[in-house]
Amino acid sequence: NLSNFETPKSFKEIHEDILKGVDYVVNLPNEKKLANPSQIVKLKKDGTVVVIRAWAQIWQGHRNNLMNHKKALNNPIFKIISEAAEELRVDAYVIGGFVRDYFLNRHSSVPDIDIVAIGSGIALAKHVSSKLPHKPKVQVFKSYGTAMLRYNDIEIEFVGARKESYNRTSRNPIVENGTLEDDQKRRDFTINAMAFSLSASDFGELLDPFDGCVDLNQKIIKTPLDPDITYSDDPLRMLRAIRFATQLNFNIQKESLSAIKSNSERINIITKERIVVELHKIIASNEPSKGFLLLEKTGLLHYILPELIALKGIDEIEGQKHKDNFYHTLEVLDNISKYTNNLWLRWAALLHDIGKAPTKKFNKKNGWTFHAHEYEGAKMVYHLFKRLKMPLNDKMKYVQKLVFMSSRPIVLAQDMVTDSAVRRLIFDAGDKVDDLMTLCEADITTKNPTKFNKYHNNFKIVRNKIIEVEARDH
Ligand code: ATP
Repeated sequence: NLSNFETPKSFKEIHEDILKGVDYVVNLPNEKKLANPSQIVKLKKDGTVVVIRAWAQIWQGHRNNLMNHKKALNNPIFKIISEAAEELRVDAYVIGGFVRDYFLNRHSSVPDIDIVAIGSGIALAKHVSSKLPHKPKVQVFKSYGTAMLRYNDIEIEFVGARKESYNRTSRNPIVENGTLEDDQKRRDFTINAMAFSLSASDFGELLDPFDGCVDLNQKIIKTPLDPDITYSDDPLRMLRAIRFATQLNFNIQKESLSAIKSNSERINIITKERIVVELHKIIASNEPSKGFLLLEKTGLLHYILPELIALKGIDEIEGQKHKDNFYHTLEVLDNISKYTNNLWLRWAALLHDIGKAPTKKFNKKNGWTFHAHEYEGAKMVYHLFKRLKMPLNDKMKYVQKLVFMSSRPIVLAQDMVTDSAVRRLIFDAGDKVDDLMTLCEADITTKNPTKFNKYHNNFKIVRNKIIEVEARDH
């Protein structure tokens, strides 16, 4: 309630630095509920405990509501869309990822833009195209009521505002025309439901009925409506919640997280293609383990990649234990992500040990063994890709090869690193030898510093020998 301003004179006196840049504090009754524990600063005011930091953050969010954001819309395309909308007498808004990323300062050189029209999105797209220099082709998706065009490499998607209602028996919603707010309600998260107006009268105005800006400031993923219904209606949203939490390093609101847990089985009704899009984005994040830990915690991983769940746990027989290969795998994935953005090399890191679950054996003489797990793992890669409807082309073969060869440099480094052994490695790995070495280096997760240095040194020797041998042979 923004009518209820309070000038925090007493706060200013006590803690100037916390309130830097804050002109007013909005008096919200539920400030404690919204507070993120790590950011709480408690001060006594009139004998009560006040959560200053959370207040300041909420205020930042609300201040965005009061500002005009014309500067976000300085790309000339927005003026053209605005004029086209005006001529068709429809209101139009930019919505979703563009608005979110503007507030997050996440700049993409060619942003995707989603436009919602209070009327026909297809008609607006066609009219916008007619006003553009080369009249770009409008791709119409009639059954979805959407249209798309490209302008200077920017992909612009147009949709008419709609109201969606789901019923339990069908995966597809009943769609009716709706208001902007109806359309914002059907969005997955509050941070994705914010819109900038493109109408001439209030160009650049933020429309944020679900306080997405507050959640952005507090780094929270939360659904506009009841999470249980939102996730059940379109279970892909559960994966998207985890994907955004991983990409943006946000937390999923507690109620949302438990709704994901109780709806996790419903992920089975989602097509594999849509699941893989989100999985790729989790794997491509800076710290993919965050996403996989959430997938595991919510039960989703069990349905999507049971091969990884099978790696969980430590067995002990006669005092001998093996490491938990699930957590080890996640460490390897994070390690490799520091050195490469190659999505398929990251996939190889994720799958490099999957053969360990079916090959695990114990015998008195050798303890725990995973004999031929690389061979088994490579076979599993094929079945996993096939099940997830991923390409069975050279990408799959690349992952398979790296999994199959994942122990070769280790075995090689344990012995004298001879020219002939290195030559065999180069021959077998071909142009993937460098990626294979990167995988092996990421695989070093020992917490013993002496061993850690020793293994890295061994691989350095192998790498140097590879360069030497290649130079000599060419
Ligand atoms: P990114 O470009 O990183 O994927 P984005 O937010 O632009 O982020 P899109 O998948 O392009 O993601 O979706 C565009 C917008 O459409 C989202 O911001 C959100 O408002 C809405 N949206 C997408 N998928 C869903 C869904 N499954 N349920 C509800 N709303 C969705």
